[in-house]
Amino acid sequence: MFENITIIGMGLIGSSLARVIRQKNLARKLVGVDCDPNVCARAAGLNLTDVITSNAREGVIHADLVLVCVPVGAYEQLAVQIGPALKAGAYVSDVGSVKQAAIKSLEPWIPESVHFVPAHPIAGTEHSGPEAGMADLFSGRWCILTPGPSTDLKAIERMTAFWESCGARIAVMEPQHHDKVLAMTSHLPHLIAYTIVDTATQLEDDIKGEVIQYSASGFRGFTRIAASDPVMWRDVFLYNREAVLEILQRFSEDLTAMQKAIRRSDGAFLQEVFTRTRAIRKNILALGPEGTPAPEHSLTRSES
Ligand code: NAP
Repeated sequence: MFENITIIGMGLIGSSLARVIRQKNLARKLVGVDCDPNVCARAAGLNLTDVITSNAREGVIHADLVLVCVPVGAYEQLAVQIGPALKAGAYVSDVGSVKQAAIKSLEPWIPESVHFVPAHPIAGTEHSGPEAGMADLFSGRWCILTPGPSTDLKAIERMTAFWESCGARIAVMEPQHHDKVLAMTSHLPHLIAYTIVDTATQLEDDIKGEVIQYSASGFRGFTRIAASDPVMWRDVFLYNREAVLEILQRFSEDLTAMQKAIRRSDGAFLQEVFTRTRAIRKNILALGPEGTPAPEHSLTRSES
């Protein structure tokens, strides 16, 4: 599909892309870049790419497609390095979980002769690093493309074909809309999980022990989500601040309403809410494991 593909950031997402690109023969030559020499050594040991380097500039010089797979907070510094080295006619895409900030950091440094098609695969796990990747991570998952108004239609089609070859289903969205939808479906649930687990860890030692010992599926599920990569998630909240704060405000109001209902022993209110939410769950299950019509329904294996 491409002569030379370069993946920058050989963690969970980058190494998953490397595996599927290799498996499906999507590039003649695959180059991996990571700023961490230790990650480079581990990726080399796993034979994920043909070449591995910690020099991003060198890594992209011959690339026909560059896939940026680093935390969003690292984008701008990276873009400054690679921008002048990009080949005319090349493609640049990324996998960042926040799109407006990703575009703001990358776009100014990408030459006009290079096609830029931002993307976000809605797939992941709570694990990080090159060992965590899987060739089928994107299989049946949504990948949201957020091209700008001036993006060439052919470039969108080419990146659609690339992500489809990786197993993903494609949706196209405005970056602002993407950030709002993901703030609700992914970022808020992660924030709640981080908070619940942190609250539990701050309980007095005797209670904390019992919380862990008797943790039922509810709390265990939260601990899985709260084990997600701290750097990646720090950047998600720093770079999708506005949308997360807006959703958080709505959520806080609803939580206060719940608190009030419990204090007033308002069983009718609680039952009404729980009945409504149960119906939503039924609708989601009826769509099948990956959902069908819209990306916001596809968050089952991971909500990243
Ligand atoms: P990860 O496993 O931590 O991997 C990121 C890798 O990028 C690390 O090896 C990191 O090295 C390296 N890196 C950081 N800055 C770099 C730079 N300037 N140049 C080269 N390499 C650099 O993270 P991930 O989960 O794959 O996430 C990567 C991206 O995918 C993020 O933008 C995230 O928003 C997006 N995403 C993640 C998920 C998910 O569930 N995890 C899902 C969808 C999208 P160090 O460890 O030394 O910093």
